[in-house]
Amino acid sequence: MKRCRDLNVQYNLEQIEKQLKTHCEKGNISTLPNVIAVTKYVTIDRANDAYNAGIRHFGENRLEGFQLKKEALPDDIVMHFIGSLQTRKVKEVINEIDYFHALDRLKLAKEINKRAEHKIKCFVQVNVSGEDSKQGVALKDVNTFIETLEQYENLEVVGLMTMAPLTDDESYIKSLFQSLKNKRDEIKALNLNYAPCTELSMGMSNDFHLAAEEGASFVRIGTKLVGKEE
Ligand SMILES: *Cc1c(COP(=O)(O)O)cnc(C)c1O
Repeated sequence: MKRCRDLNVQYNLEQIEKQLKTHCEKGNISTLPNVIAVTKYVTIDRANDAYNAGIRHFGENRLEGFQLKKEALPDDIVMHFIGSLQTRKVKEVINEIDYFHALDRLKLAKEINKRAEHKIKCFVQVNVSGEDSKQGVALKDVNTFIETLEQYENLEVVGLMTMAPLTDDESYIKSLFQSLKNKRDEIKALNLNYAPCTELSMGMSNDFHLAAEEGASFVRIGTKLVGKEE
């Protein structure tokens, strides 16, 4: 196992917070986003470092990793499941998490609704760029998709989530984040009680600063915060 020994999560967090502050100011945003430490690439030790640095939001994208971290970390964490979830694994995950970030199909919504023991806070994942490789509901289909979710009484649509493509074109990435924000504002204005849609989950290691400028409420950071062990 390759390991970067002098990786300092506390230091990384300070740098990230500085950048978030700068970019929120630049975008005229008054509230800093919550930082979710994405621990899918790292060991429990590194996840604990993040906890000790003051992080309380954690994100995992696989059942196994999620169970390991949940078991190992203290109880006062907020657990986010950020990856696509196979329908057959829903029952093992859905009542153990605080937020689900990858609702992108009705079959999944139906299964979550069936297995839920309480209201599940979900983000609808949107494929803003329209790339074939990206998961998520197409931007043009978001309204219809959310309307259809009304029948599932155990789901609450708290916001929208997206993953930007890997590119150096910052103005393109910003335009995608802006589109997601506009869509969020549009859904929020409908005042649906099952879909308050107040939150925006966007921004990863390479683009969290741009997401902050556009008003993200959750940024999901792995590599630049806790590193990547392989
Ligand atoms: C892995 C992952 C992240 C974090 O990626 P980094 O580039 O390491 O910051 C964020 N969101 C999702 C959905 C992921 O799968």
